[in-house]
Amino acid sequence: MDCLFCKIVNGEIPSSKVYEDDKIFAFKDINPQAPVHILIVPRRHIESADEITDENSGVIAAIFEKIPSIAKSAGLTEGYRIITNCGRHGCQSVKHLHFHLLGGAQLGERMA
Ligand code: 5GP
Ligand code: ZN
Repeated sequence: MDCLFCKIVNGEIPSSKVYEDDKIFAFKDINPQAPVHILIVPRRHIESADEITDENSGVIAAIFEKIPSIAKSAGLTEGYRIITNCGRHGCQSVKHLHFHLLGGAQLGERMA
């Protein structure tokens, strides 16, 4: 499958890794929109939040269980924002489910 984030997860395309385990992979966004901008993805390909089912949702728990330690390692002591863009209206550009972890400065109040 020709998927950018599958290639990053399996090392075909280099990235600045910040965390990995058997289920999830986290790396720095190439075009950061905040002082800290990390992408957290499931290793297995799930297209978007719209493809989460009772069969694959365990990895969503795995991601959210790790977010506090990833945030702590990144120095996000004052809080952060987690975003997942989904589909065309959500402006999802890479079709492999990912959560943006943003912080390191006061973020804007607006979300859309
Ligand atoms: P989306 O727009 O789908 O929510 O987010 C995709 C994100 O992937 C964007 O923030 C973009 O900067 C990031 N991105 C795109 N290509 C690459 C890449 O090759 N490496 C890394 N590290 N991030 C990428
Ligand atoms: Zn993929």
